[in-house]
Amino acid sequence: MTNTLFDASMGPHEGSTRDFLILGDGKRISYDEIHRLSGRLANLLQAEEVKPGDRVAAQVEKSPEALALYLATVRAGGVFLPLNTAYTPAEIAYFVGDAEPALVVCDPAREAKRADFMPADGKLMTLGADGRGSLMEAAAAHDEAHDPVAREGGDLAAILYTSGTTGRSKGAMLSHDNLLSNARTLKDAWRFTSDDVLLHALPIFHTHGLFVASNVMILSGGAMIWLPKFDAAQVVGLLPQATTMMGVPTFYTRLLDRPDFDRELVRDMRLFTSGSAPLLAETHRAFEDRTGHRILERYGMTETNMNTSNPYDGERRAGTVGFPLPGVELRIIGEDGAEVPQGEIGQIEVRGGNVFQGYWRMPEKTAEELGADGWFKTGDLGMIDADGYVTIVGRGKDLIISGGFNIYPKEVELLIDEMPGVLESAVIGVPHPDFGEGVVAVVARAKDAEPDPQGIIDGLADRLARFKQPKKVIVVDELPRNTMGKVQKAALQAEHEALFK
Ligand code: ATP
Ligand code: MG
Repeated sequence: MTNTLFDASMGPHEGSTRDFLILGDGKRISYDEIHRLSGRLANLLQAEEVKPGDRVAAQVEKSPEALALYLATVRAGGVFLPLNTAYTPAEIAYFVGDAEPALVVCDPAREAKRADFMPADGKLMTLGADGRGSLMEAAAAHDEAHDPVAREGGDLAAILYTSGTTGRSKGAMLSHDNLLSNARTLKDAWRFTSDDVLLHALPIFHTHGLFVASNVMILSGGAMIWLPKFDAAQVVGLLPQATTMMGVPTFYTRLLDRPDFDRELVRDMRLFTSGSAPLLAETHRAFEDRTGHRILERYGMTETNMNTSNPYDGERRAGTVGFPLPGVELRIIGEDGAEVPQGEIGQIEVRGGNVFQGYWRMPEKTAEELGADGWFKTGDLGMIDADGYVTIVGRGKDLIISGGFNIYPKEVELLIDEMPGVLESAVIGVPHPDFGEGVVAVVARAKDAEPDPQGIIDGLADRLARFKQPKKVIVVDELPRNTMGKVQKAALQAEHEALFK
């Protein structure tokens, strides 16, 4: 009897004294220590009557114990359900009501509010950033020897809620095979080995930090410098000990803001990857100028893990997300439902062993997005260039339709971003009495700069068709972003909803 994901990932590390986690203060935790802790926790989960297929929800700070809880849940046959630490008790109440977990683990500081998010008879335990709380107290009474519960490739290992960028978060059901196949693909594509030391400063309630980073490293047998959050000064101090880092674009812009981030510091690094949000071509170039490294950008989502990647060897092309990964098919579909000719923009669809099992308790939504033939509608718009590189043009939901014409925000944003005094921009559509939607550019000023709204509009006059030109430019200090560095366009739309009324 096998437990597909656990037996292939953490299982083989039993007894290994190799470093698994290196904490910010230098403390080292071996693979065997986490393996044993996962055994204790798995025994506890089973004693708490977590049955195969039952959900274990966790809204906890990033810690070695939190990672062990993920491994223990899989080992015990459960379905791990991590929740963003920023969610309020009212939001957690929605997820707990939707997922009906057999056990919820939260920060000790939140326990007092349990009535706000837990059903009266729900089971709740606590785990703090320091590893303390009732979860670890109860685990101490359990044995560390544990036979992984049998789970097949098609059984669920996790439910991960999407980031909620375009609407309410949906629970993506991910099987053992989904997670394992993608981690294996990425390990090979990015050449991970047990010699690697990954600087891990991502949150672990999201697919990037939990699956892309942690699963790939566990399969490789390398170590992770395990940081609770991204602190640029701390990262600069620790990078000389690392061989790789996985980041969101804001990690890279924040590093570039520091004069002490230089070539010497990253001399022993072999790979920087970026994803979760678009990496500006300008950041890609500035990073190469400063460090000599070309960031490897890839594209994925909660529902599919990773779909495309720039090549490890070969040209990493700025502004693109590279090629479909081995085992992943990708096509671009036009408005008529047929594949578009090469070079044209359309909806990105993907198919492969990485694609999820559907949205938790949303059969209609699942049927809409995930075809019986296995093709999944990502909701992203993109194109494939003559060399096969995929470019993400934006999200389908961000497409602006003004006066009956389609406007791809990214086309306008790229032009504005090059203008003097502009750091970056977000082009959105807001209700307009004549045009349906009116194009608005929200522009973040560069440091100490004061971009001129009229100058920006004038600067676009000869470069863009009139219907694509913003009717209004709004200058701000910074664009609203979530923890993964995603620009919150829905928030901008809500803020400027009445602009043309
Ligand atoms: P929701 O689905 O709830 O609206 P979300 O799509 O932001 O939220 P995630 O699954 O965290 O939730 O994010 C996946 C999305 O992130 C992709 O569909 C894509 O739009 C974007 N993304 C990921 N990597 C890249 C990248 N390299 N370049 C551009 N966009 C990216
Ligand atoms: Mg999405």
